Amino acid sequence: MKIAVLKEEAGETRCAAIPETVKKFTALGGDVAVECNAGEGASVADSDFAAAGATVGSRAEALKDADVILTVSGPEPQTLNGAKPGAMLVGGLDPLRRRDAIGAYASAGIEALAMEWMPRITRAQSMDVLSSQSNLAGYKAVIEAADAYGRAFPMMMTAAGTISPAKVFVMGVGVAGLQAIATAKRLGAQVSATDVRSATREQIQSLGAKPIFVENVAGIEGEGSGGYATEMSPEYQKAQAELVSAHIAKQDIVITTALIPGRPAPRLISDAQIASMRPGSVIVDLAVEQGGNVEGAVAGEIVERHGVKVVGHRNVPSRLAADASALFSRNLFNFLSAFWDKEGGLPQLDDEIGGAVRLTQSGKVVNQRLLS
Ligand code: NAD
Repeated sequence: MKIAVLKEEAGETRCAAIPETVKKFTALGGDVAVECNAGEGASVADSDFAAAGATVGSRAEALKDADVILTVSGPEPQTLNGAKPGAMLVGGLDPLRRRDAIGAYASAGIEALAMEWMPRITRAQSMDVLSSQSNLAGYKAVIEAADAYGRAFPMMMTAAGTISPAKVFVMGVGVAGLQAIATAKRLGAQVSATDVRSATREQIQSLGAKPIFVENVAGIEGEGSGGYATEMSPEYQKAQAELVSAHIAKQDIVITTALIPGRPAPRLISDAQIASMRPGSVIVDLAVEQGGNVEGAVAGEIVERHGVKVVGHRNVPSRLAADASALFSRNLFNFLSAFWDKEGGLPQLDDEIGGAVRLTQSGKVVNQRLLS
């Protein structure tokens, strides 16, 4: 079994392997071939990969005869020329936004497996790249907000007077939101948070933050199906907008993380609501690449509206490339090793996980989510 690790395209600093996972694949009997400089953005030198047992070479050398190709973000299909038909491409392939690329993988005979479509079942938790990367993004969002904010987070009582604690409001309490709450609390902020799924109320409280919920219109019961939210009724959206208007003017920092699978991100903050905030406040929109939770947020930019900084960094996990690569790489290893074929053939996926993540097979797009 030969496993190729590609150097990612510009703008992606993460890497789909670390020396630890190279050693683990080698121990299972795999041969790992890493493209030159693949680990550069994540502070892993070619020599570190070589010391772990990988061969290091050009992309063509890495791809030649590879059975499995590991990647963080989906590569341009033409850059896989030379890959053998039937090879598995495993990584974050962003299937809904890259349908043409997925079609091209199929035409090239590549079996594309999208890690972001891993089912949310207990045994797949260690393979879940969305969770591992969102956790880091939630942490980094708070650090970015603290950096852009011209005041301190904790309360400080000094001889020159007292500094009040920052007020942080987290909107969307999934994996990223929970980590954002925990990080803001550690920095000494006063934290409040909201979500549409009722189960998050207790989670917010258990982190010592204040839940701010729509009370007069029903939200989503419990965890919601698979832990995911759906689009809310116009009535709920109106009640939520009123709630946000009443709360946001008193906040210094807002972190938005709200997503709905397969849909544009819900709009949670209007321009008028931004205008109600104190100048110098900061909003970080982690959903900016999915359409944005914040009106006027621009992907890849920090824009100022009414004196409020609206931070819209793309690909936030890649801003913590070393840790993000380590967790992503372990997710890939946990996935492949769970289905490892001891005879040395391709990993044999089962129906539950294989059916969810497999996008293409035998020259065709086969995933129902892409076909329907
Ligand atoms: P996500 O990234 O899809 O969405 C982020 C959050 O935004 C969610 O909490 C969602 O409810 C919220 N949201 C959506 N619309 C909103 C709106 N209009 N207003 C306010 N909030 C809104 O979610 P996620 O981070 O991937 O995870 C959600 C849940 O799934 C978590 O509770 C997590 O623990 C669970 N989970 C379970 C597994 C597993 O069991 N294997 C794996 C991953 C996550």
